[in-house]
Amino acid sequence: MNDELELCVERLRKVRETVPADVKLVAVSKFHPAEFIEVAYSEGQRVFGESHEQELSAKAKSLPKDIEWHFIGHLQSNKVKYLAPYISMIEAVDSLKLLKEINKQAAKYERTIDVLLELHIAEEETKYGFTPDACRQLLAEGQWRELQNVHISGLMMMASNVDDKNQIRREMLTAADFFDEIKEKYFASDARFCERSWGMSNDYLTAIECRSTMVRVGTAIFGHRVY
Ligand SMILES: *Cc1c(COP(=O)(O)O)cnc(C)c1O
Repeated sequence: MNDELELCVERLRKVRETVPADVKLVAVSKFHPAEFIEVAYSEGQRVFGESHEQELSAKAKSLPKDIEWHFIGHLQSNKVKYLAPYISMIEAVDSLKLLKEINKQAAKYERTIDVLLELHIAEEETKYGFTPDACRQLLAEGQWRELQNVHISGLMMMASNVDDKNQIRREMLTAADFFDEIKEKYFASDARFCERSWGMSNDYLTAIECRSTMVRVGTAIFGHRVY
């Protein structure tokens, strides 16, 4: 095995040692070659995250079929049809329009697609996602209840990209509180509404302290991406 692949294995093992068994590790493989995914797979890793439809579809075609693919980026509605046959989870749903399109495409394959609603809590302006108020409004309006082929499994968020751990913690705890609020109001009887996806390479340990159930870790496993 070449050095780079060996490094991936070493780093994956290290990350795994720090992620508790009840937190799902999504290995973010975007911009990395399929061989990186193969070595992680041979270590038992089965959940991978990608953020570009074409790159993901090409990888999904050539790699083992028991991989659980999570789409973690901003998804345009016109790309949903390509993902619908095989995607395990779409993590960053940020509009009712997208939710409806996922439902429509999933119905064509007679399946249900699990999704997370993306929350915008970070102070940066460039990030996508629902503000807590916009999310409250979406849930209150209730159209999502009619979408039989899409299942809302929880929330996803990205904390601000800052060094201030207290700010990161504050944002993640805000998201965790918001999860509790909507769980109680809309999903109390749905045991499968249970996911809180926050934490990336730089902040996943903080995220786990802030009740994350799903961490999306790329660089800390696969090294720096070459764009
Ligand atoms: C790229 C990406 C990640 C992984 O980031 P790292 O810092 O490399 O761990 C996690 N979440 C989302 C939404 C991403 O786009």
